[in-house]
Amino acid sequence: MKKECLHMETKLVHGSRGGDVHTGAISFPIYQSATFKHPAVNESTGYDYSRVQNPTREELENTIAALEGGTAGFAFSTGMAAIATLFHLFSTGDHIIVSDDLYGGTYRLFEEICKKNGMEFSYIDTRSIDNIRKSIKANTRGIFIETPSNPMMKVTDIEALNKFTKDNSIILMVDNTFLTPYFQRPLALGADIVVHSGTKYLGGHNDTLAGFVVVKEEEMREKIELLHKTVGAVLAPFDCWLMLRGIKTLGIRMKKQQENAIEIANWLKKKEEVEKVYYVGLEDHEGYTLSRKQATGFGAMISFVVKNTALAEKILKNVKVISFAESLGGVESLITYPITQTHASIPEEIRKRLGIDERLLRLSVGIEDVNDLISDLEEAIEGEE
Ligand SMILES: *Cc1c(COP(=O)(O)O)cnc(C)c1O
Repeated sequence: MKKECLHMETKLVHGSRGGDVHTGAISFPIYQSATFKHPAVNESTGYDYSRVQNPTREELENTIAALEGGTAGFAFSTGMAAIATLFHLFSTGDHIIVSDDLYGGTYRLFEEICKKNGMEFSYIDTRSIDNIRKSIKANTRGIFIETPSNPMMKVTDIEALNKFTKDNSIILMVDNTFLTPYFQRPLALGADIVVHSGTKYLGGHNDTLAGFVVVKEEEMREKIELLHKTVGAVLAPFDCWLMLRGIKTLGIRMKKQQENAIEIANWLKKKEEVEKVYYVGLEDHEGYTLSRKQATGFGAMISFVVKNTALAEKILKNVKVISFAESLGGVESLITYPITQTHASIPEEIRKRLGIDERLLRLSVGIEDVNDLISDLEEAIEGEE
C-alpha cells in the first residue's frame, strides 16, 4: 500500500518513516547530538550540525509536511519563532493584509518589530473578499489569516482568497493552529504557506512549546530553509520527539475534544447567564456553512460572553476541573481571559471593535468526561462570589 494513500489517522500514528530503520525501534529515536562526524572531506552522512538538520527533527518535519500536503515542513522552537522567521521573507516597504482578529503575540510581532523594519500592515475583516480587494495596494506582498480566528471564531474563505491572491502574486499564509491538518488543509485550498503553534493541538499535552511552517512550492522551500537555519530558532530533538508522540493521537483527541465542545456550546447557549456563544460548530454561527465547505470539523475552541464582569471573574476563580490558564488545544481543558491574557497586546480600541471585553471568556475544551466539565462550569456560574 502506498504511503500517500493511507488515511489521515494512519498517517498520524505512523509518521513519515515511523520507527528506526537500523534497530527496528517502534518509537523514532531522539538524536541528541549537536554535530555529526564526516566520513571524509566533502562527504556527509546527510547530517552536519543540528541547527541545519537533525534526524529526529527531520522525521517530525516530514510528518507535518505529509499531513498538511506540503513539499516541506520546518520545526521551530515556538509558534512565534515560526511566524517571526517567516516574516523575514518580507522587506522594507512591503505591505501585508492581516485578519483583524488575531493571536495577540502575532499582532505584537507585526506592530513592535516588523513595523520598525519598515513593513506596513492593514488589519481587516477577512471574511469579506471585498474588504481585501479594497485593501490591496501596489506594494501588497502577503495576506496572513487565522481561520477560525482568535478569539472571535470568524471564518475566512481560503479558496476565495486563493483565486484572488494568485492573480496578484501575493503570498497567502494561514495560521492553522485551531483546526490542525486533521480538520483543515489550507494548502489544498490554495494557501502557499501554513503556520502552526505546535504547542497547542499538535503537541496536545500542554507540556511542550513548538512551531511549524509548511510550504507548498519548491521555490518557497528553499527560501524558508535558508531562513530557518540562519535565524536558528529550531526545535530541539527531545521536543521534536514529544511532538511526534503527540501527533500520533491527534485524531482521537480532536474527535473527542470536538464532541465535548459541541455539547458544552449547546449547554452554554441555554444558560441564562450567558449572552452569546461563539462556536463554529453551532448551526447558527455565521461561519457554519463555510466551515462545512472548507474543513472536516469545527475544532474545540469556544468563546462566550457572560452577563457581567463580576460573573466572568467568578467563573475564572471558581473553576476546578477546568484550569484558568493561557494556551489551548491540550488534553486538559483551559479557560482564558483574552482581555488580560492572550489579547492584552491588542490596543483597547481594536479590542472594543472586535468585542474582546471584560465579559468575554475563551474555553479550550479537553478530553475529560464532558459531564464533569459541564458540572464544573455550572458550579462556577452558580457558586458563591
Ligand atoms: C499560541 C498561538 C501562537 C503562538 O504560538 P507559541 O507556540 O505560543 O509561540 C500563534 N498563533 C495562534 C493561533 C496561537 O494560538
